[in-house]
Amino acid sequence: MRKIIMISALLVITFMPSCTNSQVEKEEKKVANGMGFDPSTPQVTKLSEGIYQYFHQFYNSLIIITDKGVIVTDPSGAERAKKMREEIKKLTKKPITHVIYSHDHYDHTRGGKIFKEEGAEFISHEKAVELISRDPYKQAIIPDTTYKNKMTIELAGESTLDLLYYGPNDGDAMTVFHFPKEKILFAVDFHLPRYINEPYRLVAHNYGGILQTMRRIKKELDYEFVVSGHTPTSSPELFDEDLRFVEALYNATLKGLKEGKTTEQLMKEIQLPEFAHWRGYKENLPGHVQRMSYTIWHGN
Ligand SMILES: [Zn+2]
Repeated sequence: MRKIIMISALLVITFMPSCTNSQVEKEEKKVANGMGFDPSTPQVTKLSEGIYQYFHQFYNSLIIITDKGVIVTDPSGAERAKKMREEIKKLTKKPITHVIYSHDHYDHTRGGKIFKEEGAEFISHEKAVELISRDPYKQAIIPDTTYKNKMTIELAGESTLDLLYYGPNDGDAMTVFHFPKEKILFAVDFHLPRYINEPYRLVAHNYGGILQTMRRIKKELDYEFVVSGHTPTSSPELFDEDLRFVEALYNATLKGLKEGKTTEQLMKEIQLPEFAHWRGYKENLPGHVQRMSYTIWHGN
């Protein structure tokens, strides 16, 4: 990572004379966060005809343009939703007809009021409704329509979007998004490429369920493009790498527990060198060992 930061810094210095001030500012932000991208600037990426990835403030949404209007996923806050609405206007004049929540967590579900005001129908897995209904800030719009195992939405032409429930993973109400014709997979929060995130984010992270969901996706779904919940890029290769990480963490933790070691010992001992280059490896791996240990003895 340090190497990347140094190279990026060098690029800014090298290109500065020909850049405008705002370009330089943008480059500086990328260098400052050390991630090679600027989360404060919305990025709209065309994935296929009428299907776009919208990345802003560390959240991804899909924007899907149909004959009747626009389907969006996860507003993820009022400010972000407002900006996304502005960006959609640059793509089409059609109204927002549907908002689909990937899952129930408030950081993904709040902010959809502006879409409700223009008449959008809100969709989620049936288990998401209870938690959304309890939003203490009352900012998350409660879903109008739910599904149990699978819901297929007809899009333009012969395209369809499948909403799939593969059981608990990050929380208990996660939808896996799959476009069979375009071979696109949208995998939120149970997939985070090359990033071992902060342990305090793992409270609802059911590692056993995640392992099952990822294995099932790999076995049952055909995809050539992957969008994650929180990074600007992913891919089938990065999804595979992430699955290898979860499997390695599971195997190492299970082995240690079977040998009679305590969770505290394993948090100090377990190393997964194949993933040492991932962001957060050194500081956050022990927290993931702890969470995996809980999954193994407790079940979720
Ligand atoms: Zn998330």
